[in-house]
Parts: sequence; structure tokens; C-alpha cells
Amino acid sequence: MEVSIDLEKCAGHARCYAASPELFDLDESGYALNAEISVPDGDEPAAREAVASCPERAIHER
Ligand code: SF4
Repeated sequence: MEVSIDLEKCAGHARCYAASPELFDLDESGYALNAEISVPDGDEPAAREAVASCPERAIHER
């Protein structure tokens, strides 16, 4: 599984990091840094929680 983040939409809420800190890297202002993330086996539930938690709908499962 992979997730992509539309960095133009990201508004720095850091909810993705709260849902899955091992998958998401943020800058010092709380904005997502990586547009493409490979999700290791077993981390899919946390990744889906992050997708659902993003208020900007900026994270998409691929
Ligand atoms: S939850 Fe969404 S808007 Fe907030 S930092 Fe993560 S990707 Fe950006």
C-alpha cells in the first residue's frame, strides 16, 4: 500500500502524524514533507486512520 499527500492542500494540522507518527514526517511548522509514502505491511490500519483524519482531505490511498 502507498499513500500520497497533496502538499498544496496540506494545511499543517499534523493530524496524520498524530494517527501514525512512524509514517509521516512533518516540518517544524507541522506541514507534511513527503508526497509519496510506502506503507510497510501491518501499518495499513494506521495509514487509513491518517487518511480519514486529514481535515483537508490531502492524503489519498493508492
Ligand atoms: S493531516 Fe493533512 S493537512 Fe494536516 S499535516 Fe497531515 S496531510 Fe497536512
